[in-house]
Amino acid sequence: MPPPDPSVRRPSPADLHMTSDEFRRAGHAMVDWIAAYLERVETLPVLSRVKPGDVRSALPSEPPAKREPFERWLEDIDRVVMPGLTHWQSPNFFAYFPANASGPSILGDLLSAGLGVQGMLWATSPACTEVETHVLDWLVGMLGLPDRFRSTSHGGGVIQDTASSSTLCALLVARERATGGASNDDGLAACNARLVAYASTQTHSSLAKAMKIAGLGERNLRLIDVDQAYAMRADRLREAIARDRTAGLTPFFVCATIGTTSSNAIDPVRAIGEICNAEKLWLHVDAAMSGTAALCPEFRPIHDGVELADSYCFNPHKWMFVNFDCDVFYVADRAALIRTLTVLPEYLRNAATASGAVFDYRDWHVPLGRRFRALKLWFVIRHYGVEGLQALVRHHVALAAAFESWVRADDRFEIVAPRPLNLVSFRLRGSNEENEALLARVNASGEAYLSHTKLGDRYVLRMSIGQTRVEERHVKAAWTLIQRCASRA
Ligand SMILES: *Cc1c(COP(=O)(O)O)cnc(C)c1O
Repeated sequence: MPPPDPSVRRPSPADLHMTSDEFRRAGHAMVDWIAAYLERVETLPVLSRVKPGDVRSALPSEPPAKREPFERWLEDIDRVVMPGLTHWQSPNFFAYFPANASGPSILGDLLSAGLGVQGMLWATSPACTEVETHVLDWLVGMLGLPDRFRSTSHGGGVIQDTASSSTLCALLVARERATGGASNDDGLAACNARLVAYASTQTHSSLAKAMKIAGLGERNLRLIDVDQAYAMRADRLREAIARDRTAGLTPFFVCATIGTTSSNAIDPVRAIGEICNAEKLWLHVDAAMSGTAALCPEFRPIHDGVELADSYCFNPHKWMFVNFDCDVFYVADRAALIRTLTVLPEYLRNAATASGAVFDYRDWHVPLGRRFRALKLWFVIRHYGVEGLQALVRHHVALAAAFESWVRADDRFEIVAPRPLNLVSFRLRGSNEENEALLARVNASGEAYLSHTKLGDRYVLRMSIGQTRVEERHVKAAWTLIQRCASRA
């Protein structure tokens, strides 16, 4: 009998893993790949050109039975994935709102993956909780938010995945407050109250979604009229609340937006807050993109009245150089939030929780488990410093102001909404179809990518400026491209 061939020996479990040396080598190559990508991303067509199914058809129908080397994975990133990417980190990306990212943030995310901790309880990794609490207290000061949102008062902040989740949590706490806790205990149907929420017609769609998820019913969301600047009309809000009270319904929640998604409109938070306080309604403030601007004292008036709010959120993953996902959610009364979401099974009991001296962030959002997301936020703040972040916000707002002035100087175009910060809403003076065709030509060029909205029934182009590496030359090139495409109309 021939001796067993050592090359067909079954691998031991330890042999199956990537060795430390392989990890180092592949890790360095991966970081090099990312650095090179970020260097060349501005030369790539911004909007992906693949058709539905193209990416999948380039993938094998069956998974590999045996190990494939790292180099082969990387080849497929270039061959299969790259053509299917829209380059959100391109400085020629001006669509939607930014999802900007940065070196320190990528490193924080990498470290979070490397540590692999699960921060559901303080006890499951105390640093994961305490760094987060501490950095979010810093942010209260950095954004000029009210002290009631600090963990050292009765409030506090928590990182959520998205603004959508924050809005949902705010709605749930408000529901509990309005029903005296009965909606959690007995269910909404037993509460004998039809709860009604309010927001403007420009409010982000995540609120309608939250109404559905919370079992409150989308039909019980009132969309309040806006003024000429697309900001909520407080007088109309007051009227709607009165009408609903007369009809025997129970108003309970208002969402005000600082920087609406369509046009960056800023709701009159103070006037809305005064109504909410008088009527005892929960006020949630959604500042998903624009909250970042308050890093600069000169833009801090956008937060006027926020001290009247029960909750507030903004997304460092939009405009503060922190990789998706990172939304920051503050409440003024953390006990109410925790009461709404806590359930304590035996297997999670521990001395620290029982002592009441710690935050268990699992009680502050929907999921149980949580990553160490504070690392990327902490690294970003340490890399740029408050002054660096302020300088970049000012740079982006100045670029938007320049773009606006160029649009105004070309009488084929019009500005359709005020520009408080870094979003310019504009259109060709012409039909919706002409504007739609213009946008299609601009985006087909691959040289820039913008998206659109509708304000009233007008089709509007949005120039959203917040990319990490955007410079004046990119904005200028985009404007030249838009003008050139308009000439071919
Ligand atoms: C982008 C945006 C949202 C939703 O953001 P997610 O974090 O993706 O849920 C909510 N509100 C406003 C005003 C936004 O601009």
